[in-house]
Amino acid sequence: METSNPTVPLQAARLPGNPRGGAFLIEPIGSRDIFITGEFTSEQLAYAQTAEEFVTREVLPRLDAIERKEEGLVPRLLKRAGELGLLMIDIPERDGGLGLDKATSMLVSERAAKCASFSVSWGAHTGIGTLPLVYYGTDEQRARYLPKLATGEMLAAYALTEPGSGSDATGARTTAMLAADGSHYVLNGVKQFITNAGFADLFTVFAKIDGEKFTAFLVERATPGVSTGPEEQKLGIKGSSTRQLILEDAKVPIANVLGEIGRGHKIAFNILNVGRFKLGCGATGAARECLDCAIRYAKERTQFGRPIASFGAIQQKLADMATRIFVADAMSYRTAGLMDDAARALDPAAPDHQRQVVDVLDEYTIECSIIKVFGTECLDFVADEALQTLGGYGFTSDYPIERHYRDARINRIFEGTNEINRLIIPATLMKRVAKGGLPYLRFLQQVQEEIAAVEKRPLCALGPLGPEVQACEMAKRVVAYTVQIMMQRELANLREKQQHLMLLADMMIDIYAMDSVTARVLEQMRIRPDADAAAELDMAHIFVASANQRVAAHASRLLCNELEGEELERQLATVRAFTPFIPLRTIDIKTRLAERLVAAGRFEFV
Ligand SMILES: Cc1cc2nc3c(=O)[nH]c(=O)nc-3n(C[C@H](O)[C@H](O)[C@H](O)COP(=O)(O)OP(=O)(O)OC[C@H]3O[C@@H](n4cnc5c(N)ncnc54)[C@H](O)[C@@H]3O)c2cc1C
Repeated sequence: METSNPTVPLQAARLPGNPRGGAFLIEPIGSRDIFITGEFTSEQLAYAQTAEEFVTREVLPRLDAIERKEEGLVPRLLKRAGELGLLMIDIPERDGGLGLDKATSMLVSERAAKCASFSVSWGAHTGIGTLPLVYYGTDEQRARYLPKLATGEMLAAYALTEPGSGSDATGARTTAMLAADGSHYVLNGVKQFITNAGFADLFTVFAKIDGEKFTAFLVERATPGVSTGPEEQKLGIKGSSTRQLILEDAKVPIANVLGEIGRGHKIAFNILNVGRFKLGCGATGAARECLDCAIRYAKERTQFGRPIASFGAIQQKLADMATRIFVADAMSYRTAGLMDDAARALDPAAPDHQRQVVDVLDEYTIECSIIKVFGTECLDFVADEALQTLGGYGFTSDYPIERHYRDARINRIFEGTNEINRLIIPATLMKRVAKGGLPYLRFLQQVQEEIAAVEKRPLCALGPLGPEVQACEMAKRVVAYTVQIMMQRELANLREKQQHLMLLADMMIDIYAMDSVTARVLEQMRIRPDADAAAELDMAHIFVASANQRVAAHASRLLCNELEGEELERQLATVRAFTPFIPLRTIDIKTRLAERLVAAGRFEFV
């Protein structure tokens, strides 16, 4: 069957407004503006520089003491970060913060990632510790706590997990009973693995009122009945504090109920959305550190009379690491831009402004989960390949990769395990489709028409990324087609078909990745036509050429599990017809990329 039509120029028609969450699955590449790293303002870059200098000058020199958990050191560093304004980025100006956008917040998270023990503590305070108040606090609660959290006078933590309920967070057993005089709740229970528990002054604690209504509470450390367990002995992020939070008849004033009674799950899940997004970006920052270390080492280490950077096996590693980081970066900043654009369209004077901001976060649930999974798995891949590049020395603590390798592992577990996040991706899509929130059904109909008539299929675009644009548009159709077959056959019990959902999630992740990297490079060439985009083009070529084949392989695997005989053959032929093979000299490209990385001595892109 034919795979392509005549060629057309690259520019897709621009669509109005902000895209719905998940719209990347159906909208053509280039139909929306996307935010890319080259567009940072001098103000955003100044915050990033402050974060980087602080971590380089004040955190890294104390690394050993941090990892030994020297008493009071991490809280002191957090307070110092507060003096520099690094704790107030996400706090609105009216609450004593800077009220900066997500792109700035993300850039700072990325730069703070040189020391994971510190960045996890910092992220727990500024993200999951502070944001519940930002989004759900009453005026009185905000005035009482946010200015102090903004400066570091108070440090925060988030207590959701329990010994018996981790992924199943709403299965919590901690209880809150209203006192007879109605003035306070009495909390009892144990929270598990709470970051910053050793020193935090304020905890967002989730408990069930009367054992039923899942609700968030602001609990001060000084409250009688609040204590913490011993520090956990961990594989990585050893310098961060992780303890149980123990509540024994802790009396919490009714004024400290956060949000609505019985609606704690909304707070828990929306806050995790932002946490995931920031975690994915931080992971990309750590991956860049690992790659830079590997590049420097490969350049200097000689074996068999040559620098190891001249060996094809090492060049392949360097190119693959750079490519994944570049793709993660494209997805992360695109998502930051989506959230910022949507937030900017809101009226800050509206009485329910914060609630509307929460709706924006909720809108991009699919993208946040994708960034968490892709960013954290990118870091694991890069930490592992970077360690391998250093050989035996990578395994020793003489080089930072050993620490990054250990520290990276937690990222796939907290803020929702990657399995849970993978499940969220197709589940959210299905919910949106069922509610008509995304015109997916119209897209499915279009795909059916394209299957029937070759002339209706996406045209093969012109330009340096023409084949990538076409491959990506076709892959969106493969996903839609597969989703439709799954929905027709399994809608009632798709939730129970986790192995199907995992494959679907990976297909959707690859679509966002292909779409973002292609759109990013096109945007870069549009706004900076004179800049050299050779390396960025190379990375987009390499990634898309393998990702579209992966999407087809997953779709075929799903179909094989559902269909048989002639029907299966017919459907597999359709997947093949929608999966162009991009003929690329990947070996030449990777060699070129690696040589460029080694010449630069570090990983940088436009
Ligand atoms: C260092 C560290 C810091 C942490 N910091 C915090 C914090 O500050 N605040 C906080 O509240 N929590 C925190 N956590 C807890 C963390 O969020 C949980 O560990 C995580 O959510 C997983 O829960 P669990 O460990 O109970 O694993 P489980 O939920 O028991 O999961 C075990 C395995 O089963 C899988 N699984 C579970 N349910 C499903 C399902 N429905 N379908 C498919 N697979 C499933 C999981 O993916 C995982 O692979 C932290 C944990 C650690 C280790």
